[in-house]
Amino acid sequence: MNIDSKYIRNQFPILEQLVNGKPLVYLDNAATSQKPLSVLDAEEVYYKTINSNVHRGIHTLSQLATVEMEESRKSVQLFINAKKDYEILFTKGTTEGINLVASGIEPLVHEGDEIIISNLEHHSNIVPWQLLAERKGLVLKVIPIDDNGELILSEYDKLLTEKTKIVAVNHISNALGVVNPVEQIITKAHAVGAYVLIDGAQAVPHKEIDVQALDADFYVFSSHKIYGPTGVGILYGKEKLLDAMNPYQGGGEMIKEVSFEKTTYADLPFKFEAGTPNIAGNIALKKAIEFMLNVGLDTIGKHENNILNYATERLNELNNITIYAQHAQHRSGAISFNLNIDNIHSSDVGFILDKQGIAVRTGHHCAQPVMKRLGITGTIRASFAVYTSKEDIDRLIEGLKLAQKMLE
Ligand SMILES: *Cc1c(COP(=O)(O)O)cnc(C)c1O
Repeated sequence: MNIDSKYIRNQFPILEQLVNGKPLVYLDNAATSQKPLSVLDAEEVYYKTINSNVHRGIHTLSQLATVEMEESRKSVQLFINAKKDYEILFTKGTTEGINLVASGIEPLVHEGDEIIISNLEHHSNIVPWQLLAERKGLVLKVIPIDDNGELILSEYDKLLTEKTKIVAVNHISNALGVVNPVEQIITKAHAVGAYVLIDGAQAVPHKEIDVQALDADFYVFSSHKIYGPTGVGILYGKEKLLDAMNPYQGGGEMIKEVSFEKTTYADLPFKFEAGTPNIAGNIALKKAIEFMLNVGLDTIGKHENNILNYATERLNELNNITIYAQHAQHRSGAISFNLNIDNIHSSDVGFILDKQGIAVRTGHHCAQPVMKRLGITGTIRASFAVYTSKEDIDRLIEGLKLAQKMLE
């Protein structure tokens, strides 16, 4: 099926505006995507009609809010094919989900155990593991990448030992758009008895995810990158592991019984959901998922791949451009590049594009080790969503030509 782009774009009022006097071209979807009317409406309707605190109230509004939030949890469960709805934890984002695991998993790791991450990670899939390693005396190892920006799997094989306890890698790189072979990575990790966390922040927006088929132990992503509200994230974890883990934070909602002698924790998922959650956001996430399912995950993926191919082709028409990870086997959602002009920074180009109403991201994309490996300080990244059109890419190319003229 093809995308009915007018129908889709009509659901995103923000795209209709002028920015710096030019029609907005929004190519920063890997940082956050725009929200359709159904998501915006859901938050407003919640606050106007059933706003109240969840799980505690006997009164009607509290019960309605609780039911809606739990229905949303259920929709996430179906969306990523988790076995149980209580394996779906609401967090405030990918970052919090990874921190929760890196903290809660302490009872399952011991001094001298090893964690494997990759050179391709977002800082939020690096720093929490460094902190865990420091606290518990673990060793952090890193899968290197090649010049295409792809993980070197033969090196991964060498890093895996019976001491490996955790492997944490992203499904799709936010910096380069490279798709990692997570199926293989998971199988190999399990063969040595390690747990695997997949950072799916850039995958869930672009492809269907089945956590049971992947056999991921943990899978994390952010609502705001899949057309949902900010301040909401999802951590999927296998029941057995979540049961064995420590709570991440203590407080209300997460207890069974509190006394000064001993506190017992609530059952899953509430053990990991201390305090009042982002109720409106959690509820509206369901609408974002419905939006994606209504368009069709396959349709979205195909459309974005067409855009990526078109962008690759058009960028290659420019002289003096370096496109990163262009020859990687599988790419999705984003393309990273630089104009080859002496003494300019990617942000100089970003600034000129912004004046043309074109929003891209420039810099290190929270992935400084990737930049270091490529020997650069940053890139210009154009990233795509279901509403991205070929006209958007044409505008980007015009903007880049202007930047070349101005900066060369
Ligand atoms: C965006 C992103 C994160 C962080 O997500 P937050 O929503 O900021 O917590 C982590 N990993 C990847 C790959 C990302 O793209």
